[in-house]
Amino acid sequence: MKGSIKIDSNLCKGCRLCVEACPNEVIEIGSQRNGMGYFYAVAKKESKETRDGKGCTGCALCAIMCPEVAIEVYREKR
Ligand code: SF4
Ligand code: SF4
Repeated sequence: MKGSIKIDSNLCKGCRLCVEACPNEVIEIGSQRNGMGYFYAVAKKESKETRDGKGCTGCALCAIMCPEVAIEVYREKR
């Protein structure tokens, strides 16, 4: 399944739980700080940078793990 995520940078506290949770290494901590001063999580722009080049599958593990409820998951309809 193909999926994508949207991370609300204003809610993120940079705890890395989503980075560790994603089986496909889609998420990384970026180099920009949000309004609270945290380096926030971002989805990698290129799926080839993810594990096995698979990109996001829409599994939602990241969103389940996020204590700030900062991640929305979208799944492509077939
Ligand atoms: S939905 Fe799954 S595959 Fe996509 S970024 Fe989150 S944990 Fe990774
Ligand atoms: S789990 Fe949530 S708060 Fe933690 S880094 Fe990921 S998006 Fe940010």
